[in-house]
Amino acid sequence: MIEFKDVSLVYPNGTQGLKDVNVTIKDGEFVVIVGLSGAGKSTFIRSINRIVTPTSGALLVDEEDILKYKGKDLRRLRTKVGMIFQNYNLVKRSNVMKNVLAGRLGHTGTFRSIVNLFSKEDRALAFESLRRVNIEEKLYNRADELSGGQQQRVSIARVLTQKPNYILADEPVASLDPPTSHQVMSYLKKINREDKITTIVNLHFIDMAMEYADRIIGMRAGEVVFDGPVSQVNEKT
Ligand code: ADP
Ligand code: ADP
Repeated sequence: MIEFKDVSLVYPNGTQGLKDVNVTIKDGEFVVIVGLSGAGKSTFIRSINRIVTPTSGALLVDEEDILKYKGKDLRRLRTKVGMIFQNYNLVKRSNVMKNVLAGRLGHTGTFRSIVNLFSKEDRALAFESLRRVNIEEKLYNRADELSGGQQQRVSIARVLTQKPNYILADEPVASLDPPTSHQVMSYLKKINREDKITTIVNLHFIDMAMEYADRIIGMRAGEVVFDGPVSQVNEKT
């Protein structure tokens, strides 16, 4: 469970990224955050794995206030909370398998990864994750040989290999065409359902949000201005 309690974030230049946010996300939910550019969607998501740090309030993940975390606790948090980015964040010159094995880093430690000492189990898990997003045949391709849709599927496989309890996806389809966007959203939804991984996705387009979300959070100027099931969106907006 994730609980934002009166969370605000003011950036060093004075911009209010989040303002008095109170939101509880239950285990297994598929939540989509919508809002215009600059509304605070990214700041909301990045707070949950402490890429950014709110300046007041409490932010609980599994009942621990992650705003108090540092060092080892932060590493543990980032292993538990997987992240998917708009631009995939793959190592372009590495092959797909190596990119996906990077999901094991939080589990194996850096030394093993440097010397390429992933276990048989790590490799099996990486392969199985690639299979789940139907991209296992690209195993030995370099990441930069793949299309955008394929790269995003590899990044989903990487996050699956990490075995997270939560997946955060920051505009995961913003660089993709509509059919490919639907494909990527379908995989995220399928994984949410099958593995019961709580998933929070930022999206630009409300129609896409309506199609996939259990619940929609609308943001404007750092504030939550709507929070409810898809069925309530039409009557209130
Ligand atoms: P969204 O994801 O909805 O586009 P963001 O969370 O990226 O919105 O941004 C919210 C607000 O915070 C915007 O006004 C943005 O310009 C500002 N902002 C984001 N990151 C920073 C930063 N590192 N420093 C200063 N202001 C920032
Ligand atoms: P998708 O439907 O996943 O977006 P595309 O139709 O864009 O896939 O790509 C079709 C094929 O072209 C894929 O097999 C992909 O590997 C290949 N491809 C796409 N872009 C590149 C590229 N920049 N370099 C090499 N191969 C590419």
